[in-house]
Amino acid sequence: MRALDDSSYDAARETMVREQIVARGIREPRVIEAMRRAPRHLFIPPAERHRAYADAPVPIGEGQTISQPYIVALMTELVRPQPDDIALEIGTGSGYQAAVLAPLVKHVYTIELEATLSQRAATALREQKYDNITLRVGDGYAGWPEQAPFDIIMVTAAPEHVPQPLIDQLKPGGRLIVPVGPRFSVQQLQLLEKDAKGKVSTKTVSPVMFVPLRRD
Ligand code: SAH
Repeated sequence: MRALDDSSYDAARETMVREQIVARGIREPRVIEAMRRAPRHLFIPPAERHRAYADAPVPIGEGQTISQPYIVALMTELVRPQPDDIALEIGTGSGYQAAVLAPLVKHVYTIELEATLSQRAATALREQKYDNITLRVGDGYAGWPEQAPFDIIMVTAAPEHVPQPLIDQLKPGGRLIVPVGPRFSVQQLQLLEKDAKGKVSTKTVSPVMFVPLRRD
């Protein structure tokens, strides 16, 4: 398919927000606005860019994928971002989820195992002038102890169990969203919340399919 010009991408993004995000029940106005603003196509390699606003995950290189738009919006809504929140993302990938979350919180820390993807995401984020996202290459299983604790933790690759370091690095009142389950099969999206006393409750949200969280 031929490359689209900028205004075609803008129109495709508006349609995506209407048909995939609002129509399926995403209600939080700030999340809808963030989906309307983040230029998803600029986080996707040129060869796949024409599919940026399709209702599907898209390959981003290194065998990885950027999540379907609806899943990005759903996970963002479920962690209930607040302007003063400090967030951690595991699995930077293209940088798109970080770009959606960044305007809704104070700062986003994001970890990626693949250096190539992290560098590409850093470039896209810099070109788009995001100034409250810090990237790092490493194994996100261990979280980011130097910046902990976090109000929000979003895991965008699927572990077989919830990494204990991430639970430990969640603030009282914090929210952790994570797809949990077997590799390359259906996983369950889980929302963990830590109350003021440090007690953790878990809610299963819906079946999803993510690439596996790999270990170093
Ligand atoms: N949030 C991304 C999509 C992520 S796909 C986006 O918006 O584009 C999942 C990513 O997690 C992949 O890039 C993969 O390389 C990365 N990943 C897998 N295991 C990891 C680990 N242990 N630590 C950090 N990143 C990991």
